Amino acid sequence: MRTAHPTRRGLRMTRIAFIGLGHMGLPMARNLLKAGFTLTVFDLVPAAMDELAKEGAVRASSALDAVQDADVVVSMLPASRHVEGLYLGDNGLLAALKPGTLVLECSTIAPDVARKVHQAAKARAIELLDAPVSGGTAGAAAGTLTFMIGGAASTLEKARSLFEAMGKNIFHAGPDGAGQVAKVCNNQVLAVQMIATAEAMAMGVANGLEPAVLAEIMRQSSGGNWALEKYNPWPGVMENAPASKGYSGGFMAELMAKDLGLAQEAAQASGSSTPMGALALQLYRLLLKQGKGKQDFSVVQQLFVE
Ligand code: NAD
Repeated sequence: MRTAHPTRRGLRMTRIAFIGLGHMGLPMARNLLKAGFTLTVFDLVPAAMDELAKEGAVRASSALDAVQDADVVVSMLPASRHVEGLYLGDNGLLAALKPGTLVLECSTIAPDVARKVHQAAKARAIELLDAPVSGGTAGAAAGTLTFMIGGAASTLEKARSLFEAMGKNIFHAGPDGAGQVAKVCNNQVLAVQMIATAEAMAMGVANGLEPAVLAEIMRQSSGGNWALEKYNPWPGVMENAPASKGYSGGFMAELMAKDLGLAQEAAQASGSSTPMGALALQLYRLLLKQGKGKQDFSVVQQLFVE
């Protein structure tokens, strides 16, 4: 049963179906609502829809229900298998969308799977972009995400105002799947920097330094990086970082392990040497074995403390 929110009706003619309202999808969908777009939302977890329904979105009873009449579909799901399940096959969304529909697939998935979904979309005259993001939950909430986009440049231009409602930096990475390749390269760097920061924090504190003092010195010095700038892994150094909230919220370690696995697959495909990425993957697998997969990826700090 769908209930339209009258105050949002008619603000913009573009009807968006947003699928996947997790840590990232929910704030991204909220920014589209704020920009005045008409949204129908779906997530397997009903509670995720409740919040947006209060803010003017229409709740759908399934993904197929959500895309009825949609001009645009945005999806933000955990991994490749969820995206394949959503779009492909007889009951998949591509079979239900009208030709000309624009699809922005924002999840981080294998480049090969992205290309497979691109092909299936083309066969039905649906315009699809792989558009993974960077910037974390804070960037999603602030509408300052970076989008790394694979697909036709002309499709990107059609979708630009939607990306601009959710992000600040909109990059055309290249053809189908190129957004995903850029994303796994970026996340490999992020993981390596996070691990390097965590081990240095632990070493400095074990040698008598105050964590906040060490963090600030490194942030302003040649060791400065995104983790030190925005996401310090040591509890209490940054009030709003997941480390200071029991490593809750943020970007789950199991998703980082997934991205590092995708990076290794990409390296394998091209014969690239990525020893740092390989080691990072092993450390994240260890965290998963310790039962920390659902915690924020900065929980890697705990590998280095007593
Ligand atoms: P999440 O697990 O919090 O959210 C995923 C949501 O998708 C969940 O609410 C889940 O119920 C829903 N879902 C799964 N299958 C579904 C289906 N078939 N239909 C409808 N809903 C479905 O994950 P997240 O942190 O929001 O990450 C989403 C994607 O963005 C991942 O690919 C991740 O790698 C990437 N990413 C995350 C971050 C971050 O900081 N969290 C940053 C950049 C990119």
